[in-house]
Amino acid sequence: RSFHYFDGSRVSSEEIPHCKPQAIRVMQWNVLSQSLGEKHDNFVACPEEALCWRTRRWRMLEEIFMYKADILCFQEVDHFYFLKKTLGALDFVGTFFPKPDSPCSYVKGNNGPDGCAIFYNTSKFELLRTETRILEVCTCQSNQVAILCIFRRKADGREFCVTTTHLKARQGTLLATLRNEQGKDLLDFIRAYYDHRPLIVTGDFNAEPTEPVYSTITDCLEPSLDSGYSYLSNHHEEPPYTTWKIREDGETRHTLDYIFFHKDTLTLESVLDLPRKEDIGENRVPSFRYSSDHFSLVCDFCFK
Ligand code: NDP
Ligand code: CA
Repeated sequence: RSFHYFDGSRVSSEEIPHCKPQAIRVMQWNVLSQSLGEKHDNFVACPEEALCWRTRRWRMLEEIFMYKADILCFQEVDHFYFLKKTLGALDFVGTFFPKPDSPCSYVKGNNGPDGCAIFYNTSKFELLRTETRILEVCTCQSNQVAILCIFRRKADGREFCVTTTHLKARQGTLLATLRNEQGKDLLDFIRAYYDHRPLIVTGDFNAEPTEPVYSTITDCLEPSLDSGYSYLSNHHEEPPYTTWKIREDGETRHTLDYIFFHKDTLTLESVLDLPRKEDIGENRVPSFRYSSDHFSLVCDFCFK
């Protein structure tokens, strides 16, 4: 995978660079819950050993550290204490917020509920505020959550806001409507706390760009949000996939994960491209190479 810089340069993964000193690197990744991946998802083409926690956890960490991000936004975290301990050794601190009725809790031998998490590099940033939200639909709590963090960069005191979420999964018009309502509630949550700071909104939205929630997120905040990964394409289109898997009922390839940002206050410096079809392999993901069924997304931003 390569970083694409918008000054036209391209840097391949053999020489993953740190972001520029003035930039902030953000990773978005649905890490795949251990309980769901092993016992619930039914990834029929994935070797069982590739899902085994004893080794998969090190490959997860490799993916996390390889791209040298400063802010890590995760979904389907059901091993928060492992991440807290291991990322803590490298100066990262995190917040975890579980789903109220996580499907993981129904899996035999589970490691607790899954949820969202945001980690940040304490050598670069100070955490000013953390807020959590159980997303509401028509004033009723749903089973999906969001986290919002406000950070101050130690080097220059600049403040910014990062949020992450994991919206309701599965296809269908009714569920697309539900996701759209969750998206609206996410925006209300952001409006309540971000106080017009530069804003980065990440997540597994479980929605293709054609779904209403995509336009809700990009158009309904003032000023509007832009999608980092749409800049990988000359036509400003989202990538063809952020997840690609084979379950018993067949192969699916979807674009569901995004890093949105406020283009009035932030400049997008670079984007890490998606793995190519030939690197992913015929059995798709998860695999020994890619430990989750979702690919990580990484963007560098600078303050305007
Ligand atoms: P969601 O619909 O949001 O999905 C939950 C998880 O399932 C997500 O992490 C999603 O991953 C994954 N998923 C999506 N599609 C599939 C698929 N085709 N096969 C397997 N996994 C898939 O669920 P909710 O959070 O609304 O929770 C589901 C509810 O179901 C729970 O609240 C619980 O009450 C109930 N439940 C009960 C069980 C039981 O044994 N009684 C078992 C499981 C759930 P991604 O986002 O990556 O697509
Ligand atoms: Ca999943």
